Amino acid sequence: MSILAVGSIALDSLETPFGKREEVPGGSATFFSTAASFFGPVAIVGVVGEDFPEEHLEFLRGRGVDLTGVVRQSGRTFRWKGRYGFDLNEAHTLETQLNVFGEFDPVLPPQLRRPDFLFLGNIHPRLQAKVLDQVEARPKLVAADTMNFWIENTRPELLEVLRRVDMLFINDSEARQLAGEHNVIKAARAILRMGPKRAVIKRGEYGALLFDDGHVFASPAYPLEDVFDPTGAGDSFAGGFIGYLAHRRRDLTLDGLRQACIAGSTLASFCVERFSLDRFRDLRAEEIAQRLAAFKALTDFHEIPV
Ligand code: AMP
Repeated sequence: MSILAVGSIALDSLETPFGKREEVPGGSATFFSTAASFFGPVAIVGVVGEDFPEEHLEFLRGRGVDLTGVVRQSGRTFRWKGRYGFDLNEAHTLETQLNVFGEFDPVLPPQLRRPDFLFLGNIHPRLQAKVLDQVEARPKLVAADTMNFWIENTRPELLEVLRRVDMLFINDSEARQLAGEHNVIKAARAILRMGPKRAVIKRGEYGALLFDDGHVFASPAYPLEDVFDPTGAGDSFAGGFIGYLAHRRRDLTLDGLRQACIAGSTLASFCVERFSLDRFRDLRAEEIAQRLAAFKALTDFHEIPV
């Protein structure tokens, strides 16, 4: 089944307690598509500036990512600067430069207009809506992600998009902010009343919670000792989740969604082991299989007689 994603393609400058990196590849579409590519093909729509190094696009192409919807426009590439303190769950945005994303008008090439799975990655909700408008047949699943920047600055447009999506991926603090609720469960319930039938609340090193109708599924995060750079974990989670559903599971049953949560947590756990996309450069299918098995062992227990 086909996957189309829209999102940012970025040059990130990062500071974590373990080091600094300047102008490394990042962005929601970049992490999403790289993670999804471990399960099968994915196409992205986005924009880069004249200064975006061709080698980063080559890397994505080499992973089977279809870049026919990516345009190179005059101007500078989107840039994000972030810092993490000892609490790696919280990214502090130091600077966001929209640059070419400021005037971007996404146009889907005709062959990308009928995706089975559509992911509206973290980007201006107006662009998410423009992509949704061009889709010619209702996808099996329309999922979206967003962040505090858009919740604060473009709330009405974001709420408009949410009415049109089936599923939202969102961080716990952003879920609270979006819903105006302190409790994450209440926040998830409030989000489900905004449009999406399902929501995944991402909780960094504490894992993720899937809400679907009356069901809740909790996926842990893999207990890693060396977390280097959490940037991209959320998008890698969504990429693993949708990549697994579209290419392996091919249905939207509760059982499949639960497995997809573990697939997402697995890809996210690799993402954070090194800076930027670096861990994905040499990640092998056997390593993914081993970690999936480790997840099973981590959460498996026999019934407890009382
Ligand atoms: P996450 O997966 O949530 O850690 O997302 C990390 C990526 O989001 C980084 O690589 C950034 O380039 C990107 N990003 C940060 N702020 C924004 C924004 N306002 N719009 C789109 N992408 C962003």
